[in-house]
Amino acid sequence: MLEVNDLNVYYGAIHALKGISFHLEEGEIVALIGSNGAGKSSTLNTISGLLRSRTGEIKFQGENISETPPDEIVRRGIIQVPEGRRIFAPLTVTENLEMGAYIHNDRVQIEQDMEEMFNRFPRLRERRKQTGGTLSGGEQQMLAIARGLMARPKLLLLDEPSMGLAPLLVEQIFEIIQDINKRGTSILLVEQNAQMALSIADRGYVLETGKIILEDSADALLENPLVINAYLGG
Ligand code: ATP
Repeated sequence: MLEVNDLNVYYGAIHALKGISFHLEEGEIVALIGSNGAGKSSTLNTISGLLRSRTGEIKFQGENISETPPDEIVRRGIIQVPEGRRIFAPLTVTENLEMGAYIHNDRVQIEQDMEEMFNRFPRLRERRKQTGGTLSGGEQQMLAIARGLMARPKLLLLDEPSMGLAPLLVEQIFEIIQDINKRGTSILLVEQNAQMALSIADRGYVLETGKIILEDSADALLENPLVINAYLGG
């Protein structure tokens, strides 16, 4: 479904991605793990068209999207839920969800999608008239994911969904991610929380300073001594 081949991304003189290649099959959850600054967010931003690679190619459903503008990438079905829960703070929960559906104009279906989000995230229904900025961290993360789902993605790019959340909420968010995947959305998951990410992923890649240093099934990575020592607290 997604083929990423030889990404080289620079910020001025900083060489952030040094030949990143990986793939994701339809229906999979694939985890990209690595510490701060490894290049995880840059990888997602390059796939969604916000950053450009100097070399290589990104193919989605067989088509080269390396030069495709970000809004067209969204229309093709790749939706990024950004790090830090960047919801629209001054807008209400309902308005945030409507923004997520901006590429659609089938009003009835949008209403149905919104109802589905409220069924899936009951807290959002309770708070639907509140502005995004007044929600707790966990609620904002749920809103960010729900807003992404309103676009009806084929592939969801999730950037650090567990960041800043209490352990119980982290578990809840990961159950939601698994459920989204079971209903047919493929997921590329970027996480510093390697344990949680690999516990729900099919496969994973380990990034270090802009390079993929390891790839394997999630089960094998969870038992890999390098991963255990560097990312699972020994
Ligand atoms: P984090 O979890 O902290 O976001 P990451 O693995 O997602 O880490 P990136 O944010 O992709 O890593 O950063 C990769 C490298 O690129 C780092 O060395 C970082 O300092 C650098 N970098 C990222 N964004 C910029 C920027 N806007 N300007 C300059 N350098 C940047």
